[in-house]
Amino acid sequence: MLKSPYIEWSDIVMRIRVIGAGAAGLSFALAATTVGYRDILVFEEHSRVGVPKHCTGLVSETTVQAWGNIARSCIINKFHDYIVRDVERRNTIYLKLLEPVYLLNRVKLEEELADTILSAGGIIKFRRRIRTIHPHHNVLIDHEGNRVEYDIAVVCEGAPRILARNLGLYSKPKNLVGIQQLISLGKSPETVIVYADRRISRNFFGWCVPVSDKMALIGAADHHGSNAYAGVLRILRVLEKEGYQVRNVIEQFGGLIPIDLPRSLIADNVLFFGDAASLVKPLTGGGLYAISRVFRALTNILKHTDPKELSHAFMAEINMLKRKFKLHSVIRSALTALGGYETALKILSAIGVRFIKIEEYDDLLTGMKLGSW
Ligand SMILES: Cc1cc2nc3c(=O)[nH]c(=O)nc-3n(C[C@H](O)[C@H](O)[C@H](O)COP(=O)(O)OP(=O)(O)OC[C@H]3O[C@@H](n4cnc5c(N)ncnc54)[C@H](O)[C@@H]3O)c2cc1C
Repeated sequence: MLKSPYIEWSDIVMRIRVIGAGAAGLSFALAATTVGYRDILVFEEHSRVGVPKHCTGLVSETTVQAWGNIARSCIINKFHDYIVRDVERRNTIYLKLLEPVYLLNRVKLEEELADTILSAGGIIKFRRRIRTIHPHHNVLIDHEGNRVEYDIAVVCEGAPRILARNLGLYSKPKNLVGIQQLISLGKSPETVIVYADRRISRNFFGWCVPVSDKMALIGAADHHGSNAYAGVLRILRVLEKEGYQVRNVIEQFGGLIPIDLPRSLIADNVLFFGDAASLVKPLTGGGLYAISRVFRALTNILKHTDPKELSHAFMAEINMLKRKFKLHSVIRSALTALGGYETALKILSAIGVRFIKIEEYDDLLTGMKLGSW
């Protein structure tokens, strides 16, 4: 008998339960809803999406394309180059981006994803924290002790990874702490500045991202929150010294950035996605690329795959990302051992590199070309 390439979705009832309504949880739910799954519930511990704020929102063209109009409607700014430098500008290298990098309004992105899910018939249950998962019984227990049965549970709880740790996926998750301030200035820098300087971060880097002509988002990440905060204060002093006239700090926020290798599966019926699975670009800490890429793949795969194969299709995509991130993770560890991003900047400057052409923002090593003026 000839097998139809399409699945009759209306006949299939599969209880998908998503834990966490961040970018990952909402993207998974949206992909499944769009394809035609009908019994999807998203549980979110907060009373709305987008909180607490933590992310900068810098993403590639590829990432924007994956979410399509949802992401395009959230673009605030775009950049064609980055300046990578130390505090005193002794060493400066320009990153020339072949495709623009966008600054997204991150809260709006989650609101748009949530609205699209709701208008397609999906359900988000707010103020419902999932406390425990029982993979052998296909049951979730929420904070009030209510039981929720599932066929597939997708854990998208973000970087703290409490459920992931309880289920043995990670013994002790490794994270950086990222702290940011939205500030108003007399004038803002023309493009993104990345501070590769141990006085701003020993283990990572700091950043200043123009939001509008008189506002910028500054931040730093480090193993310890106090160091990251000290890095942010130093950036404020640097901007002041360089004549940007810091007026005031409008808001401060931050969060954790996973730095261990991705892990995504404990059983066929419990998947981990997003920061919960450490699906983060090791060199930059960006997590939205992986989420958007899996979102796009799932939307395609689910159209043609038996729902029972959902977790396998999902894992195939995750494994591709895992391979890519492993190499980047090794490079980041080597950089850290050699003295961090500052050392890399010094070495490249010493050999005369003044700019680097970046072909793929999401894979800095592919097609990268070093140049001097
Ligand atoms: C300082 C900083 C800057 C960053 N900048 C960038 C950037 O420029 N570009 C980029 O691509 N990425 C960036 N990232 C990373 C990016 O923010 C994350 O990768 C992304 O937000 C991960 O999405 P998520 O849905 O996996 O997790 P989250 O966004 O953390 O969402 C998790 C959700 O799950 C909910 N939740 C948790 N546990 C439970 C539970 N038990 N029950 C119910 N609900 C629960 C939470 O309330 C939350 O809403 C940055 C991160 C930080 C910290």
